[in-house]
Amino acid sequence: MKVPKAGAIAAVIGIALTASACAGDDEQGTLSIGIKFDQPGVGMREPDGTFTGFDVDVATYIAKELGYKKDQIVFKQVLSNDRELLIEYNEVQLVAASYSINDKRKQKVDFAGPYFLAHQDLMVRANDATITRAEDLNNADKRLCSVTGSTSAENVRKNLAPKASLLELGGYSECLVALKEGLVDAMTTDNSILAGYTVRKGNEGKFRLIGLSLSNEHYGIGMKKGNTELQVKTNNAIRKMVEDGSWEAAVKKNFGPDYKYEPAQAITTGS
Ligand code: GLU
Repeated sequence: MKVPKAGAIAAVIGIALTASACAGDDEQGTLSIGIKFDQPGVGMREPDGTFTGFDVDVATYIAKELGYKKDQIVFKQVLSNDRELLIEYNEVQLVAASYSINDKRKQKVDFAGPYFLAHQDLMVRANDATITRAEDLNNADKRLCSVTGSTSAENVRKNLAPKASLLELGGYSECLVALKEGLVDAMTTDNSILAGYTVRKGNEGKFRLIGLSLSNEHYGIGMKKGNTELQVKTNNAIRKMVEDGSWEAAVKKNFGPDYKYEPAQAITTGS
């Protein structure tokens, strides 16, 4: 019988390895996930380099269900304004970044989920009683901050307070500085994000949420268009996370005991 040479065996194994690496992940066997780096409770890169927040916990759970170990996850920073772009250009395979599902975004990317329901609210300095409604921001002497590329900024411009003097910055932590320094009188985005800032160490007692429910923000996991297999697997992972109690545990851990959260929503994406 003819014994195959080592080179031939290697060639066959080589082909096999290449083929198995094509099953939706990249060649190093890592999964890159876009998260926010500056939203405590939601998506945060801590000073020691670790990642915390509800989006991080959801993303880690999904990654596990997709067959990745913790050390195979690469978290990359995304901003509200570059999420679609980073997905389209394969910089990240998934985005878990307080990313609301909407029709405009669905033209560019696919979503799994929703995995969370938040509502747009306003946050002011704790000692400021002059703003109680979104319409108060139409006053010429009031300034508001939100983030470029967010539904929050768009909602202000189109619906909530079209005459407001709106400062749009790259991230919510920048708005927080502007609010702290008195450059603006309020900032607006999802209550989940705002709540995270109020309880962050060093911020206690400084800021206050008005408690409005100005929109429904259904958070989805963003991914490249057309990867039905990834979408189905991600939806299954979200369902499992809710069913086994990990979802509720993650909500309580990250948003604190006082945060009033909505129950898990039914999956609406995918066929
Ligand atoms: N959920 C909203 C959005 O997707 C606001 C939060 C954010 O900018 O990440 O635009």
